[in-house]
Amino acid sequence: MNSYVQQVINDVKEKNSNEPEFIQAVEELLTSLSPVVDQHPEYEKADLLHRMVEPERMFTFRVVWTDDEGRVHTNKGWRCQFNGAIGPYKGGLRFQPNVCDSIIKFLAFEQTFKNSLTGLPIGGGKGGSDFDPSGKSDAEIMRFCQSYMTALYRFIGPDVDVPAGDMGVGAREIGYLFGQYRRIKQNFENGVLTGKGLSYGGSLIRPEATGYGAIYYLCEVLRHEHDTIKGKRIGVSGYGNVAWGIMKKAAQLGAKVTYFSGPDGYIHDEDGVITEEKLNYILEMRQNDPMHCRSYAEKFNCEFVEGEKFWGISDVDIYMPAATQNDVDINSARKIAQSGVRYYIEVANMPTTNEALNFLANQSHIIVAPSKAVNAGGVGVSALEMSQNSERLQWTKEDVDDQLRRMMVNIHETSVNAARQYGLGYNLIAGANIAGFMKVADAMLAQGIF
Ligand code: GLU
Repeated sequence: MNSYVQQVINDVKEKNSNEPEFIQAVEELLTSLSPVVDQHPEYEKADLLHRMVEPERMFTFRVVWTDDEGRVHTNKGWRCQFNGAIGPYKGGLRFQPNVCDSIIKFLAFEQTFKNSLTGLPIGGGKGGSDFDPSGKSDAEIMRFCQSYMTALYRFIGPDVDVPAGDMGVGAREIGYLFGQYRRIKQNFENGVLTGKGLSYGGSLIRPEATGYGAIYYLCEVLRHEHDTIKGKRIGVSGYGNVAWGIMKKAAQLGAKVTYFSGPDGYIHDEDGVITEEKLNYILEMRQNDPMHCRSYAEKFNCEFVEGEKFWGISDVDIYMPAATQNDVDINSARKIAQSGVRYYIEVANMPTTNEALNFLANQSHIIVAPSKAVNAGGVGVSALEMSQNSERLQWTKEDVDDQLRRMMVNIHETSVNAARQYGLGYNLIAGANIAGFMKVADAMLAQGIF
């Protein structure tokens, strides 16, 4: 390992010892950069790595709201503007009770390199709140979002920082957030948020984009292996917006998702989630209850296994963890390796512990693709939404879908080339890390020392 890289990892561990997810993300990325830093002494000279692991800005704020019974609640809000070297900060908002410094920081760090990989001019950011949206009424969600935006509006803008959705933040929340921004600012800067509704500047295909992009990336991996998506069976963890997009695009291309899961257990649907009725039910189920997927089994008469994860099953061709961070630990990774399944395509942000990821990447029979490349189509289409907003136009669904597909082909190719350039072979993890890093590094060096 390059000694400067090692030094920076050690410093991050020491200075952020109470932020395990952030340490994990930094270690995962920086480890890949060792051969790059060996060949580029100018990075150490400009102390680029220490600069890159420190957010440009990160702040918290108080969010107070009143529930339907008139009780007052106080939550914490976050925004981390991690790196703005290649464009305005860009990244979602996550509303979930477990949100904390470490989670926001790791997500914003990952976002920086993912956004760079899209090839579009967007910097990295992330935000959120420890607010728990489950069981809240529409009016409560609205009051919370209004209060949240009142605290945040002066620090964002179409050329400054452009938030979007993440877990717990969908079209409804973005609508309330945008309404409050417009109300306070007295203008129509709809480029300040992405993931908007179609009637006020949203982009076609944005809801599907992360899942569609993941399948397009998978198609490139399969093409590299002289294989095709047709007839493939996929096991996806999660049943949120991203999993839904995967199910939909897989069905369009003649593949099928036969396993998916929720916090309560997993579903095995031999026929696949391929009909419109099933796909719509996934959306409905998610909206009504993000914690339980059991009702799908009752409705469509298939198997539900309570309290278990499906890692280790062998009647799929592809695994796609699309739920949340650290979903797959070393024990699950061992089961995955034993199952004989050949493709492990990460989708959620950092779904695999570093130990499990290294283990899987070292299995010669498995191809591993990293989330920061695979899920980049979501934020990529957000950048296309920003373009449409500044052009005051709306592109057709075919246009957006086609640009998304080309973006994913490009991300795969760029990653492959970056890894090759450093003699690493077909290594999609290192390739994504190196390619994402290089563009940000170049921009930072060009802009002087700060
Ligand atoms: N939250 C999504 C992500 O993890 C989307 C961010 C965006 O569209 O800005 O990339």
